[in-house]
Amino acid sequence: MFREQYDVIVVGGGHAGAEAAAAAANMGSKTLLATMNLQTIGQMSCNPAMGGIAKGQIVREIDALGGYSGIVTDKSAIQFKMLNKSKGPAMWSPRSQNDRMRFAEEWRLALENTPNVDFYQEMISGLLVSGNKVIGVRTSMGIDIKGKAIVLTNGTFLNGLIHIGEKQFGGGRAGEKAATGITEQLVDLGFDSGRMKTGTPPRVDGRSLDYSKMIVQPGDAVPEKFSYLDTPILTKQRDCHMSHTSEVVHDLLREGFERSPMFNGRIRSIGPRYCPSIEDKINRFADKDRHQLFVEPEGWHTVEVYVNGFSTSLPEEVQFKALRSVVGFENVKFFRPGYAIEYDYFPPTQLKHTLETKLIENLYFAGQINGTTGYEEAASQGMMAGINAHLKINEKDPFILKRDEAYIGVLIDDLITKGTEEPYRMFTSRAEYRTLLRQDNADLRLTPMSHTIGLATDVRLKRMQDKEKKSDAFVHFFRNTSVTPEDINPILESVGSASVKQSDKMFKAFSRPKVTMDHMMRLESVSNFVAEQELDREVMEQAEIQVKYSGYIQKEKNNADKLHRLENVRIPDNFDYSKLKSLSFEAREKLEAIRPISISQASRISGVSPSDISVLLVFMGR
Ligand SMILES: Cc1cc2nc3c(=O)[nH]c(=O)nc-3n(C[C@H](O)[C@H](O)[C@H](O)COP(=O)(O)OP(=O)(O)OC[C@H]3O[C@@H](n4cnc5c(N)ncnc54)[C@H](O)[C@@H]3O)c2cc1C
Repeated sequence: MFREQYDVIVVGGGHAGAEAAAAAANMGSKTLLATMNLQTIGQMSCNPAMGGIAKGQIVREIDALGGYSGIVTDKSAIQFKMLNKSKGPAMWSPRSQNDRMRFAEEWRLALENTPNVDFYQEMISGLLVSGNKVIGVRTSMGIDIKGKAIVLTNGTFLNGLIHIGEKQFGGGRAGEKAATGITEQLVDLGFDSGRMKTGTPPRVDGRSLDYSKMIVQPGDAVPEKFSYLDTPILTKQRDCHMSHTSEVVHDLLREGFERSPMFNGRIRSIGPRYCPSIEDKINRFADKDRHQLFVEPEGWHTVEVYVNGFSTSLPEEVQFKALRSVVGFENVKFFRPGYAIEYDYFPPTQLKHTLETKLIENLYFAGQINGTTGYEEAASQGMMAGINAHLKINEKDPFILKRDEAYIGVLIDDLITKGTEEPYRMFTSRAEYRTLLRQDNADLRLTPMSHTIGLATDVRLKRMQDKEKKSDAFVHFFRNTSVTPEDINPILESVGSASVKQSDKMFKAFSRPKVTMDHMMRLESVSNFVAEQELDREVMEQAEIQVKYSGYIQKEKNNADKLHRLENVRIPDNFDYSKLKSLSFEAREKLEAIRPISISQASRISGVSPSDISVLLVFMGR
């Protein structure tokens, strides 16, 4: 039934697994995607949306590297918004609502159309290990399948336990079995494991809602998209809506608190801090008399609706009664109640930067299994694990993204260096170089690197090079073309900026606050240049950002260069920290556990102080 030996076997067909299989296969590995249910490949377990603050940047990065999440998202989008457009471009974050069923279908089609991917539907219940190396997997029916590298992407399925009020039952997601066997074997092999929890709101029947009482939340008037390739742009969009909870709703919810698994001690594991359940919000922010609820359609044609903001594991009748008191929900009918789920994860400090485990060679972990939350975080890890599994078995150098190169670099470095005790989600604030890590330039940052390792296609590289060439030429034009006071002063005055007395380079006026590309386009020479060079919106936006933020960008580049100097001071693999007596006890313990690859990574480990770093620097300097 199977090849004698696969190059890469990916366990799990969620967001991490799908990207891992795509990356490994597209680089040339004979890949098997083994998952419990082939109908749920690319399933969105929670909200039907991709992107958002910092997460949108990650999807753009996955796309720039040659992954599929951006393409699948564009093909199944029903609404698009660029969040934070009123702030600087470092904060702009694309977000889309998606058709849940089409999203999964597009993922399945994308993988079916990827040469080198074989599929198999069954639970994987164990790993085949020889010495300290993984050599395959064993299915729950006892079939052994050989593979040179294995990527585990089990999501919320490992010993998953679902809670609704006082009821609890095994499951990896509503209506799906939990996965057993893998945690137990990994613990026997010496891995540490932990428990986390997450939750989801009820899904309701859109026909039972009164939208006229809610606030309409339309998409952007000029929608954009995620992929740098030619994916469709939305020509029509579906509206979302907004309503609010109230004191009455809170009181009704409180009636169920003593039967809540969150409050009666049945759920002990930690959930996502930034995605709290409604009962958690009422409890923690007792002074707030209402909370926002976003009413999100689950697709183009379905009547199913996702009630964002009402995640809960209270008894179903309490959920129902409380939701019926929300404005617009007076006659609501449920498709299914909300629930919480507890699952096993493996503290990610047990991984290398490649996402290979330190304990077992050629075994990789990606996605929720590493303590993260979110489709985007999972997909990006899957992709990096797939890439590195392929590179490792072909004896090539690992592919590691640095913190100033990608949010994906920040994510993985945070996970393996600091670990996480609560579900980790990405934020712009986690990235120290966010002016460099923008959504608009992910292709410029990453496509050439990915092309070099054999993943991004020639088409991608060519598109990126065209964009770079054209935007550089446009910036050059602004730097080298002068504008007279007669021409520029009307623009400056229109935005309340001081007028000029002499001709000067356009770059100067354009750099001023409030002067935008739209203003500059009023100058004939600028609009002529755009027409002659056939510059599109993306190129113009790129040039505008390069002009207006050049100072900030340069400053961050300089800071990043300083960091690189520390990154270049490598710490040997098996360095013996016990011989550095001046290290603090805590630092020695942490350094031994995490085994950083550079002084720079060592400096990010909590418990390693600046004086410990000096000790290391003096020694390594020698
Ligand atoms: C109830 C719930 C609520 C959530 N709420 C949020 C939220 O509010 N915000 C947010 O950002 N994220 C949320 N998430 C998390 C989000 O769904 C995940 O972060 C994301 O799906 C993780 O992707 P993944 O690929 O790691 O795992 P998953 O998407 O869970 O996919 C795991 C895959 O592995 C398969 N599998 C598992 N074990 C085996 C095995 N042994 N053998 C074969 N196949 C196996 C499963 O069938 C599945 O296909 C929620 C998830 C759930 C379940």
